[in-house]
This record gives sequence, C-alpha cells and structure tokens, in this order.
Amino acid sequence: MTGSVRNMMKEIPKVDRVLAWPEISGLLAKHPRPEVLVAIRTVLVQLREQLLDNSDSTLPDTARISALISSELESRTRPSLQTVVNGTGVVVHTNLGRSPLADEAEEAILNVSSRYSNLEFDLQTGERGTRYAHVEGLICELTGAEAALVVNNNAAAVILALSTMAQGREVIVSRGELVEIGGSFRIPDVMRQSGAQLVEVGTTNRTHIRDYLVAITEATALLLKVHTSNFAVVGFTAEVSVADMSSLGRESGIPVMLDAGSGCLMDLSPYGISGEPTVSQYLAAGADVVTFSGDKLLGGPQAGLIAGKRQFIEAMKRHPLLRALRMDKLSLASLEATLRLYRDPRRALVSIPTLRMLTMTAGDLDHRADVIVRRLRRSLPDTVTLVKHRGESSAGGGSFPLLQLPTTLVEVVVAGHSPLQIEAALRRTMVPVIGRIHHDRYLLDVRTILDRDLPTLSQSLAEASAGLAKEKP
Ligand SMILES: *Cc1c(COP(=O)(O)O)cnc(C)c1O
Repeated sequence: MTGSVRNMMKEIPKVDRVLAWPEISGLLAKHPRPEVLVAIRTVLVQLREQLLDNSDSTLPDTARISALISSELESRTRPSLQTVVNGTGVVVHTNLGRSPLADEAEEAILNVSSRYSNLEFDLQTGERGTRYAHVEGLICELTGAEAALVVNNNAAAVILALSTMAQGREVIVSRGELVEIGGSFRIPDVMRQSGAQLVEVGTTNRTHIRDYLVAITEATALLLKVHTSNFAVVGFTAEVSVADMSSLGRESGIPVMLDAGSGCLMDLSPYGISGEPTVSQYLAAGADVVTFSGDKLLGGPQAGLIAGKRQFIEAMKRHPLLRALRMDKLSLASLEATLRLYRDPRRALVSIPTLRMLTMTAGDLDHRADVIVRRLRRSLPDTVTLVKHRGESSAGGGSFPLLQLPTTLVEVVVAGHSPLQIEAALRRTMVPVIGRIHHDRYLLDVRTILDRDLPTLSQSLAEASAGLAKEKP
C-alpha cells in the first residue's frame, strides 16, 4: 500500500458520520434505517476496495458518495426478477421468459393465487381429487389423445416418461436426434438419469427404418424420436417419420415416444409457418406418447404436457417421481385458461400473445412500426432519431430453426453515441429494453413489443437518452 492510498483509506468516512449527512438523513425519511445502513456499508466497502485495487484512484466527494448510497438503496428496493421490453424479435425467447401469457391466463393466476381452490378436491363427490383432472380432458380434446398428464416442464415430462416406460431397459434413438436443447438438457444425459440405456442407430445425417429394425432386441423398451428443435441438418439427409416408426413399433410390440419439443396445437401453415406438425398429427400418425412444452409455441406457462395412450399415462400417474415433478397451482390455472382459448382457434390466434406475434403479417408490422415511432417521437429530444428498416424475426424457443419472418425494425440513433452505448443505456433503465445490434445499428423489432409495453418503452427511451446526454461524450 502506498502512503497516499493509506492516507485516503483513513479519510473514508465512518458509518455514523455518513448517517448525519443531510443527503442521507433525507433518505431515512423514505427508507427503513436498516436498509440505509446496509447501503452505506456496501458503498464504503466498495470505495475501500477501489482504493486498494487502483492506487491512482481518489476518494469521491460527499455529494458523490451520497449519490452512490442513494442508487444502492434504489437498486435494493427493485426486484431482481422484473419486466423487460423484448425488442429482439425472438418471439419465444428463453432468456426473456419465453411466452407472455394471455389476459385470461393472467386472470386465472390472480384468481387462484390469493384464495383457496379445488386444486385436489372433487366438488362432485366431496372427496379428494387430483390436480391433473383440471387439464387432462382439455388436452385430450385438443390433441385427440386417450389420456394426458402435466408436469413441471418438458424436460420433466421426458424424464418421467422414460423412467416409467424404459427404466433398466434399452431405448433406440437416431444419432441425428441426440440433441442438446441448451441449459444442459441433453438426450444422452436425460436417458442416463432415467435409468434407461441409450442405443444409438443410424448416422448424424441419415437414419433409416432398417437401422431401428436391426437394433431391436429382447431388451428394447421404447423407440424414441426427438424433435430437432433448435437446428436443421440440410443436404444429404434422411430421417424416419413418426408414422413409419409407429408401424415398426406396432409390428414389434414396442411403444413409440416422441419428444416434440415446442408442441404446436394448431396448424400455422396458413400463416407461412410450416414444417412443425401438430401434436394431434403426431398422435394420429401412431405415436404412443408425445411430450411437449407449455411455454413455447403453445403460448402458456412453463409446463410439460404428456399426451398419449391410456396405459402409459396411467403408469406415469402412479410413478413416485411424479410427486417431485408436479406442477404448481398457479401454472396449472394459467395452463387451463390458455388451453381453453384453443377451443376457438380464431380466438386463440388473437388472445395468445405468442400466436398473435408469430402470425402478424408484414403489413401489420409496418403499420405497427409507424404507430410506435409516432408515439415515441412525442416524448423524445431532438438528439434521438428513429429510422424504420426491413428485417427478419425468428420464432425462437426451439421451433422452426430456419424460419425467418419478415418484419419491421426501428433503429434508435442517439447523436454522439454508439449502438453499444445505446444498448447499455436501454438495458439499465427502470424498465429495461432489450434490442439487438446488427451491422452497427441498434435495432428494435416491433413484432415482440407488446401493446402494454408502449408507455414504458417511451419512458425507457427518454430515460436512456437523458442518461446518455449526461455522460461525457
Ligand atoms: C425445449 C425442449 C425440451 C425442454 O423443454 P422444457 O419445457 O424447456 O423443459 C426438451 N426437448 C426438446 C426437443 C425441446 O425442444
């Protein structure tokens, strides 16, 4: 430690003295005293560390230290999990919470969250009921399945299904489908966890029905197909369809399971979104069990849905793992509300935000961009310019990996500041805005900006541009 740093360390004020500063006693009127004390201590420790790390640094003045304490308090009162504006154009964005819920689903959560409910109570008989009954019928109705079950997420659904149907036995999977979904969900690892033994067949780019046929032995419990959700193999490729796998399964007396990943309940091909069969199509093709997520294309809460033949679903309901993988009542309520919307497909397209965003036309989006730009303009200083561009958005969430949906982007230009600076400033506003930088432009995709985001987006842009204006250029 140099002499000057040692002297400065001695000048770092004591907590008691800081408490007496007028700026800080003002904070005591608004925040509980223990909170103010924590903020003071945190900032003083940071100052000490800065001085030790960098012998050139100097101790800030009282006004600056007070400002640091005030912003520390501010950030302590803000929840860690907070809303953001998604300007990335990725509709099912896993890092940004996947699917925003429909109003009906939100209302269902509010309804059951603060009062008692018939979660596991049968109102007809007055006896104990099951939480799964609230959605099983709906899932069967919408997919044509004999039986259905829901768990915490699709990863849990796959583990439960494999543990129930294949523990200690062999499961045949194509080498082209040994996928990693991200966040450490890898088919070979999941298989090991469920106590099933993986038998790989075929090659990365080509697998044929005879590859499955020759791999079948006495020990085979299941033929598993995994939707290659987040990538595509192109060129010289071959995969076996669910229909062909199911024929083989029937002939050999072995069930066929499909991990469908995103789980589409509605045919979206009329909207230019094709290539993803629906769950009913998979079941009609003969799959015995299909698992899929609740918060991807379905547009609901985090959930894992399992639809299929009664004998397998009933066995899963009796499996001891189910208790550990069970869904909570809030998700269950919002899943039920979301599924109900699918009874009227036209209503689903309008009310479920994920479906609404995916099916917006280029014309809708261009108009939307005009509305947004006009609205934002009103509250922005002249240093901020908004420029419309054409671009592409993607579905995200492990669905339609190659799909590029034409969209309209709004470029945000702040005079004297780089796209990187703009990105950082917008990411730190009260309601953060997440956009993307492409070809040295900071861009917001209007597809994923929700109507309820519009007032906050104006505020955040104004806040960010004011912040940038204060920064030294
Ligand atoms: C997304 C996905 C999963 C994991 O689903 P979660 O609901 O996130 O647990 C599993 N398999 C496939 C093929 C997927 O696309």
